[in-house]
Amino acid sequence: MKIVCTEFRQESNSLSPFQSDLAFWRNNGWVLRPEEMRGAHEGSGSAMAGMISEIERLLPDAHIVFGPGFYAQSGGTAAQHVMDSYTEQLVDVLRGAGDIDMILFSFHGALQTTEFDDAEAEVLRRVREVVGEDVVIGVSTDLHAYVSRAFAERADIISGYQTYPHVDFEETGRRAARLTIRKATDSAADTVMAWASIPMIVPASAYNSLEGPFADLIHHGHRMVADGTILDFSIYQMQPWLDVADPNSTVVVVAKDAETACARAGELAQLLYDARHAFTTELSSIDAVIDFALQADSAKPVILVDSADSNNAGAPGDSMAVAAKLLDREVMPRSATVVSDPVAVTRAHRLGVGTTAEFHIGGQMDPRAPQITAQGYIRSLHDGTFRPQVVGHTGDSVSVGRAAVVRFGNLDVMVCEHIAGNGDPQLYRAFGIDPAMYDLVVVKANTSFRAAYRDIAGTIVPTDTPGAASANVADLPFRRMPRSIYPWVDEERTICAEVVRG
Ligand SMILES: [Zn+2]
Repeated sequence: MKIVCTEFRQESNSLSPFQSDLAFWRNNGWVLRPEEMRGAHEGSGSAMAGMISEIERLLPDAHIVFGPGFYAQSGGTAAQHVMDSYTEQLVDVLRGAGDIDMILFSFHGALQTTEFDDAEAEVLRRVREVVGEDVVIGVSTDLHAYVSRAFAERADIISGYQTYPHVDFEETGRRAARLTIRKATDSAADTVMAWASIPMIVPASAYNSLEGPFADLIHHGHRMVADGTILDFSIYQMQPWLDVADPNSTVVVVAKDAETACARAGELAQLLYDARHAFTTELSSIDAVIDFALQADSAKPVILVDSADSNNAGAPGDSMAVAAKLLDREVMPRSATVVSDPVAVTRAHRLGVGTTAEFHIGGQMDPRAPQITAQGYIRSLHDGTFRPQVVGHTGDSVSVGRAAVVRFGNLDVMVCEHIAGNGDPQLYRAFGIDPAMYDLVVVKANTSFRAAYRDIAGTIVPTDTPGAASANVADLPFRRMPRSIYPWVDEERTICAEVVRG
């Protein structure tokens, strides 16, 4: 058995004002050569780590050939040269590997390039051109993937995260590897994947797998796996900042026969669509959240969720919308926020700790972002690396570039060259800001933060802030998105599944 393992992962935000070029991928992720892949992933908790360990468990004599590994934090649409560089390196590996039995991809699944809405489907097309239709291709993805028909037609197995906040990276890699091996090796067992397209997008902050209707649906899928009805399921809520001409959310089910796969995928897809009205987020105004944090009896810290500026979702992270509102107040709650602003970081490092100076912060990347100009006191300067509390996705060490903590009255601003690890309280704690000690803490994330923050948060308040990852999906400035799907069209529909891989 010869198995190629490779990684190509980024979540695109079409509404971000910049492209993610190779320099962005290198600075906000990694670009690994094949010989670096094992060392980078083994024991890391990533999907690729899960694939490697599952192959070695089930097929100890298999020969793993690594392809390249490209990963970047969420960002704007990827420059086409990123995909071309990745696929050229991968095709070289495939041509050099001789006869291959299987290929395993660790994708995000919602990557858009300047030329392709559906980058993963194009990667698979290029790979199929080289290896043909008989090599078994398995894929792991994020739960927010865009699984188009073309994507599903070219992959034999697709397994997505079943948790949100995402914590099952490694297990998802194992599921994808296990099913792909089953399909490639066990000729007696049929392994059939059915795909159902659901015409809807909903804000990512509106659901999670911990509680509520989405969690119920995930539990329903798990029960069907546990009782042997199906082999695997993935319920995709396409991330809503992807401006594509043919969008869909998706359910994928793998079963031992086509009839069961289609019936169960259709059932889960119908349940997801029928629950659409539950996937909305009530947003409070920034001022209302500040007022709440000022009340003596509000449960603190109040977590002000600024999901619209989440660079987990591809926004620049350079908005000072909340800080500007805080600085307008005569009485300010004890507050902390975080921002990407490399110019302000450089200025703080030049001036030194203990200096008070006028700072202009915000809008470095997106000039439309709210900014502040005020006298700030430089409390501390940092190299910007920290150990995350939430492991798996970002590795052992996270870097935000150089950093500075600048104090404006009751407001501490964590200024980074580039924000990373947004959903992790360590992003503050490691630099002397203990969120538990503040009245109001700005968290620029959608749902990921709940994994670590739910233990320390007094109150969590999704807030109506401006930015490229706004939860007001219907009002986003899409140019290509057809308004024929939910939330623009809200009607009863019958959702059916089919087997699309010939
Ligand atoms: Zn996701």
